Amino acid sequence: MSIDWDRRHCARKGHITYAPDELRLRGRLHAGTAVGEVWRCLRCGDFVLGEPHGSGPADQAPLVPRGRALRDLFILRFLAVERILRGLLIVVAAWAVWKFSNSQDAVRKLFEDDLTAFKPVADHFHYDLDHSPVVDSIRKFFDYKKSTLQIVAAALLGYALIEIVEGFGLWWAKRWAEYLTVVATAAFLPLEVYELTEKVSYFKIGTLALNVLAVLYILLGKRLFGLRGGHKAFEAARRGASLLEVQEAAGAVGVEPEPLPVRPRTATETG
Ligand SMILES: [Zn+2]
Repeated sequence: MSIDWDRRHCARKGHITYAPDELRLRGRLHAGTAVGEVWRCLRCGDFVLGEPHGSGPADQAPLVPRGRALRDLFILRFLAVERILRGLLIVVAAWAVWKFSNSQDAVRKLFEDDLTAFKPVADHFHYDLDHSPVVDSIRKFFDYKKSTLQIVAAALLGYALIEIVEGFGLWWAKRWAEYLTVVATAAFLPLEVYELTEKVSYFKIGTLALNVLAVLYILLGKRLFGLRGGHKAFEAARRGASLLEVQEAAGAVGVEPEPLPVRPRTATETG
């Protein structure tokens, strides 16, 4: 991919500059020009006119996600939004089942009416509501007992809450949310495969593919369950990519400051 995530992000959110106390580092991040002082952005590496946004020891500098870390953040936020929307849809489904459990005839009608209302949306995604095993199963609930339906409604609500909690956790880049997403998503993969065996559609294949990719991406990218060195290696890689760390490493081995634009380096490249 040729997208420059750092510049794109800076264009939207603005640059982040920092004046480290260490003079050697300060010299690398700072320059005086005819139009005033410039400080190097910790994210994209461009020199920015004006006062630094913060100052202090280098190890107190804000940990600015850049390069790969920034791309990860973007992908996880996409997954977060997808989770929250799915969660809300399932809340509606849980509410419908609950309502149906209280007055079966009224809700039978409501369900069929709502199904008709959702048809244009479903058609747009090539999702055949009339032949979906899930919808078929819900139709069969018409003959089920009230207590059974209430359990189903509670289960749906529980699932919806997991999805919504996952979504907010992923949005704020919480590690527990990554674990929750991997475990919960993997647990429901068999159900998705089952849906496919009943009736194949592009929408279902797309959902399954997205979920398999999400599990693998988070599992390997975030080094969960101790994979690829685990949490320690993940934090080390993230720190190693921050510009101050790169500058420090460059100074330590006597390398000239990198020409602009700066590419994030990994620890192995500098060592
Ligand atoms: Zn910038």
